[in-house]
Amino acid sequence: GAERNKNVLILMSDTGGGHRASAEAIRDAFRLEYGDEYRIFVKDVWKEYTGWPLNDMEGQYKFMVKHVQLWNVAFHSTSPRWIHSTYLAAIAAFYAKEVEAGLMEYKPDIIISVHPLMQHIPLWVLKWQGLQKKVIFVTVITDLNTCHRTWFHPSVNRLYCPLEEVAKRALLDGLEESQISVFGLPIRPSFCRAVLSKDDLRIELEMEPHLPAVLLMGGGDGMGPVKKTAKALGEFLFDKELEKPIGQLVIICGRNESLATTLKSLEWKIPVKIRGFEKQMEKWMGACDCIITKAGPGTIAEALIRGLPIILNDYIPGQEKGNVPYVVDNGAGVFTRSPKETARIVAEWFSTKTDELKRMSENALKLAQPNAVFDIVKDIHELACQRGPLANIPYMLTSSFSSLIY
Ligand code: UDP
Repeated sequence: GAERNKNVLILMSDTGGGHRASAEAIRDAFRLEYGDEYRIFVKDVWKEYTGWPLNDMEGQYKFMVKHVQLWNVAFHSTSPRWIHSTYLAAIAAFYAKEVEAGLMEYKPDIIISVHPLMQHIPLWVLKWQGLQKKVIFVTVITDLNTCHRTWFHPSVNRLYCPLEEVAKRALLDGLEESQISVFGLPIRPSFCRAVLSKDDLRIELEMEPHLPAVLLMGGGDGMGPVKKTAKALGEFLFDKELEKPIGQLVIICGRNESLATTLKSLEWKIPVKIRGFEKQMEKWMGACDCIITKAGPGTIAEALIRGLPIILNDYIPGQEKGNVPYVVDNGAGVFTRSPKETARIVAEWFSTKTDELKRMSENALKLAQPNAVFDIVKDIHELACQRGPLANIPYMLTSSFSSLIY
């Protein structure tokens, strides 16, 4: 009979902006490469099918990263495998039925996890259902460098690591070399395919055509010292003697609406654009000459593709810490927490140190891996071809595991 399309279930969670961006990147790359051959579902299964604590990861994550020390402790104290796997096993047992229903509803032939807490429970469910040999399960790590060990699960069919360093840690954690591929962080295809000129973009985005531009942001949630930095830039990018600006500023506040409102109420001596959540980040990055951001992996990888020198002004302890030396040691940017220092550096890049800006831009482009997302979906496609027939998950499953428990 006619082959039906293969179902791909991508498991993500809206903690920050990065996991969703990666999930959408993978979905878009599948569509571009294989059209209708795959049906893609991007789902936050936890939110839709479980109770606390799994359904509120977003809220807890926001609370914890605001209270940075709490996150630091949580990140490091849950690192040993026996701790996090015991904890996750307990939760899995409790929500087994719901998670199972949530996963199976999409009858996935392929499950892709882009979240550090979405290995253990789905893999258990597949095991209990006897589906391990039928359903392909892969993990795409969406942290850059110092990621949490919950990402490494030895039962995956493939683990996609952004960097060799991460692959080495996965090997130490018991994965086989044949399970691991290193292609880079998956970034939305619009970033690698768009070849718009800076001049055209500035016209489209109604920016000044000739002034150098700095982009200021703080991840999907507009975190970090954005307001203070914006104010400092407002001073440092204005030449008091000549009474004219030496640069222009774009601030993208993401979902942080109160930040945008506050910034809009200020008076500016330089041209400023203040925006909320933007869907076309590749355009704003393409229109600017450098970027200031917290050390979010998605933003860093995107900035590298656009060749933007990066000033990192903050990082989330744990998973984002290693991103700082990655950028700085490779000569693609600098780290400082001081808003004044940040503004001074930008002012220099736009006046006396244009050569430094250019060199860092070249280094950024050397690190960029724009094709990672396509390499990943092609590899998953190959896995699917090797696997042959579809998983054909029946509509109703008698849940062996949950009946054991309940
Ligand atoms: N982003 C976006 N629009 C915005 C702000 C952010 O699309 O207005 C995207 C950004 O391009 C990046 C992601 O959100 O892909 C942020 O991910 P990152 O890993 O940098 O930080 P997180 O928000 O996950 O902490």
